[in-house]
Amino acid sequence: MNGKEKVVIIGGGVAGLTAGIYALKQGFEVEIYEKNATPGGECTGWNRKGYHIDNCIHWLTGTKKGTQMYDLWKEVGALSDDTEYAKIDAFYISTHEGKSVTLWNDLKRTEKELIEASPEDEEEIKKFIQYVEYSKQCLFPAAKPAEMWGVKDYIAMGKDMADMHKVMKEFGKISISEYAMRFKSPLLRKMICDYLPGEYTAYSLLVSYATMADGNGNIPMGARSNQT
Ligand SMILES: Cc1cc2nc3c(=O)[nH]c(=O)nc-3n(C[C@H](O)[C@H](O)[C@H](O)COP(=O)(O)OP(=O)(O)OC[C@H]3O[C@@H](n4cnc5c(N)ncnc54)[C@H](O)[C@@H]3O)c2cc1C
Repeated sequence: MNGKEKVVIIGGGVAGLTAGIYALKQGFEVEIYEKNATPGGECTGWNRKGYHIDNCIHWLTGTKKGTQMYDLWKEVGALSDDTEYAKIDAFYISTHEGKSVTLWNDLKRTEKELIEASPEDEEEIKKFIQYVEYSKQCLFPAAKPAEMWGVKDYIAMGKDMADMHKVMKEFGKISISEYAMRFKSPLLRKMICDYLPGEYTAYSLLVSYATMADGNGNIPMGARSNQT
């Protein structure tokens, strides 16, 4: 016994591993119990028959410098200022009956391309882009755990995310399938539906696209995966 107090953590996903790092930094002894053969939880990926299979994670939320998540990733050693990212300039491409549209990270470029593809949807397209722009404010507060938040923290978050209120009001209660029907073009309807199952709420699409468009969902290069 070295006299240090011990923290026992159940689960070696990214949350458990992060908690472990912070506990070590505070001088605790740490033991993490993971039920699977490898740690990582939902972040685990593996190679099989020449393919890489990502369990969940497609990009890392929190890659934008200056955000609290970025500082957290730096503190636990997941990112550094030298981290290189895959060069990706679009969220995804949708195709319908031989025609395609792209959700570029450059929102102006997307707006132009979508209006060219479906001029009759111009009003709805402009609204979509505007609300993706608002959704860039949806940044995870990570400076301290929610249990330690006080009134001031909630007020600060409310101010920082003032436009997210508009997003939730407009898109927080309708499903992706319902939202798609606001567009006249079958191609744009497909584009709205291509990201998530139709029953998901529409704001999930907007927030995910905003994360990519804002440079807060990059793909760090050089991660290792488990072979099977
Ligand atoms: C489909 C999907 C896609 C996603 N895509 C992205 C993305 O692109 N970008 C992004 O940033 N985030 C993404 N996420 C979110 C991200 O993957 C998760 O938020 C994060 O990995 C959760 O980490 P966690 O440690 O909280 O939980 P988990 O990763 O679930 O870790 C929990 C761990 O605890 C272990 N465990 C559970 N019970 C026990 C027990 N009794 N004893 C021992 N061990 C136990 C589990 O085996 C697991 O390893 C995605 C999530 C999903 C589901």
